[in-house]
This record gives sequence, C-alpha cells and structure tokens, in this order.
Amino acid sequence: MRLNFSVSTLSRPQPQSTDINSELINLIQNHQQAAQLSNVQLATKLGYKNINKTMRNLRDFKQTGEIADSYLHKIGEILNIDFDEIRQVQARYLRDKFSDRTLFIQHFDQIWAHRALIIGDASYANISFPGIYLSVAYLGAPGYNIGILLQHYMNGHWRADNVCCDRVYIIAAGGSPLSGNNSCHGFCRRCRSQKSFKVPAFGIMLKAHKELKPACQQRETDKTMADLLHDFQSYKYRNVKSDLTGISSIALTGKK
Ligand SMILES: [Zn+2]
Repeated sequence: MRLNFSVSTLSRPQPQSTDINSELINLIQNHQQAAQLSNVQLATKLGYKNINKTMRNLRDFKQTGEIADSYLHKIGEILNIDFDEIRQVQARYLRDKFSDRTLFIQHFDQIWAHRALIIGDASYANISFPGIYLSVAYLGAPGYNIGILLQHYMNGHWRADNVCCDRVYIIAAGGSPLSGNNSCHGFCRRCRSQKSFKVPAFGIMLKAHKELKPACQQRETDKTMADLLHDFQSYKYRNVKSDLTGISSIALTGKK
C-alpha cells in the first residue's frame, strides 16, 4: 500500500490550557515549598541514578503536568501528600479534559441522526477536542474532527466489531504503517463503554484516511460540542436542515 499523505498539511495540535494539569502542578509545588525542598533536593530524594534525567523530568512536569506514575507515587511519599488527594486531582483533570469527548459519546445517537448536516457545515464539522486524533508513525498527526469521523463511519470505516457487545466506533487511532502495530480508542454503540484495543488491519484505516474527501472546508471553528448540541434544539437550525440533507451523497465519495 502506498501512502500519499500531504506532509505539509500535517501538524500536531497546539496544547490548550485544558491539556495541562495545573492543579496537580500547584499541589506538588505547594507541598515542595512547605517542605522547603529545592528541585535538586527533591530530585536527590527521589533516588534515581541519573540525577540530570530526574531534574529534566521534574522540570518537564512543572511545564506540562505530565509525569510517570512511579515518580508521582515517590513524590507523594517524600512530600507527605495523601495519595487520595492526588487521585482526585487527576480524576478532575481527566473529566474536564475529556468532557467534550464524553458529550460526543453520550449524545452520539442525536449526532448520528444529524450527520449529513454536520459534515456539510464547516462550523460543526471542524469541531475537535482532546481524544480525537490520528497519529501515524513517521508521518505525524493530521487535524482530526467530528466531521471526518462521521464521514469515516458513513463510509463503513473506523469501526470495529467483536470488541464489545455491539459495534465500536473509533475516535482515536495511532500506529505504524510499516509494522501495522496500532492502538485505537473508541466507544460501543450500545453500552457506550470506552474501549482501547488493536485493530487487525491498521492499513485499512489509513487507506480510508487517505481516500477521504472532507465534505466541507477544513478550518478552525469556535463551536464546541456544547454549542452543537444546543443548536440541535433551536428552531432556526431545524429549519435549515431540509436544505442540507443532500450533502451526504458528496461525503460518500462515490461509495455505496
Ligand atoms: Zn458494549
């Protein structure tokens, strides 16, 4: 299989404020100050052989909020932080970070019913949020959004059977085109459980990506999942629906 990704259009999404677990950073920093430990002292107490690497990891954590669980456990012990508190901070962070993904999954029936409308309207099709992505080794991560996901599903792609009690719709996929090794994340259409799993043929998902012609312009949008769901309720939006239902034939790119 040949891949014709246009590399110039590939870019990693910029980190947003919700991408950073600042509550966790503050919690650690406050306890570190209270314990009167400098970064070097904290790094030394962590006890890893490579102190420079430990210092780098601590510095990265304070910028990104990213930290390995093994580090976090040790830091919690050294600074005498209740681990339940750390767990609660992390749970809050993940709930907020993935709140739009949760909305997408919870309201998928409504979204699916409006799929033709969404994929043809750039302000809705371009809605994206943490947890939607395609990441391909050596090629990068093209911008992904709900319009592209819906088009994949409509074309019969980016779906997996035998993962849960019903068909699973994939919302994130990462892998290597060479080895086929991959990791996918999706939700079950029936029970709405979220599943992380491997697909047997990652190449088919990449081929679907390569062949997909977005039904509308790919650009930034200010709309969020909450806006989309709110707009479904509004009279004005229901009114224009009939004008746009024909758009689904464009999205299917000649496939049945
Ligand atoms: Zn299920």
